[in-house]
Amino acid sequence: MTTVDASAAESGYMVRAKNVHKSFGSLEVLKGITLDVRSGEVMTLLGPSGSGKSTFLRLINHLETLSAGQLSVDGELVGYRRAQNKLYELREHEIAAMRARIGMVFQRFNLFPHMTVLQNIMEAPIGVLRQPRDQVRERAETLLDRVGLVDKRDAYPSTLSGGQQQRVAIARALAMEPRLMLFDEPTSALDPELVGEVLEVMKDLARSGMTMVVVTHEIGFAREVADSVVFMDDGVVVEAGTPQEVLVNPQHPRTQNFISRVL
Ligand code: ADP
Ligand code: MG
Repeated sequence: MTTVDASAAESGYMVRAKNVHKSFGSLEVLKGITLDVRSGEVMTLLGPSGSGKSTFLRLINHLETLSAGQLSVDGELVGYRRAQNKLYELREHEIAAMRARIGMVFQRFNLFPHMTVLQNIMEAPIGVLRQPRDQVRERAETLLDRVGLVDKRDAYPSTLSGGQQQRVAIARALAMEPRLMLFDEPTSALDPELVGEVLEVMKDLARSGMTMVVVTHEIGFAREVADSVVFMDDGVVVEAGTPQEVLVNPQHPRTQNFISRVL
């Protein structure tokens, strides 16, 4: 059974999670996550494999439903709509509309293999948002310039390096003009020499004021651009604070142990 409270929807915050629980059958994966992401904030989420980081991002992006607690994104409750003081489960098209405002970049660059770089970027704004082709093309070219890949506009994904593909994936997400960008270990599948070019694009995006939640083991990125760092383990937030607090002076032994292993 799901219990929700509409008070999670408040302005000034892009994401508000209050005591969020998520179970798959009898496996409780998130055991009461409480955290806020302010508009314009860059949050990095750290934690060992299996701690629930991806599940939490998937909840924010409406790819899972919560088991209990409250979650709002961009001032709206995830999964529910309020009308006449009652909560109704969202319908498919309402969920789609909310998801269209959130960009997500995964570990694997799942670009459409049969489309060129430019077609990949133009697909959703035309297909989902029904925006005019000329306008979308112009924006796509600007985005390609921003990620340093204008000369690859007519290339197919298979001819690109992993780092280039991931930069296209970021441009593709940005083409939807999202209010929030989620990154789930965007550099984990890359050869080490390709990690830097993707992080540079993400840093540029962070500086532009985009609200971002980034799951990553790149401590350097977290230290340089994150406003806040959250360390999760076993479905709970163990420690949260500034990069200085969590990465340089972690208080909890579990955080200390993790940081010493990934540095
Ligand atoms: P992380 O991203 O931190 O590595 P995940 O959120 O992917 O962790 O997974 C947390 C736990 O939830 C893992 O034990 C994983 O096996 C489990 N899990 C994730 N998704 C599902 C699912 N759809 N069904 C069952 N178990 C799942
Ligand atoms: Mg994960």
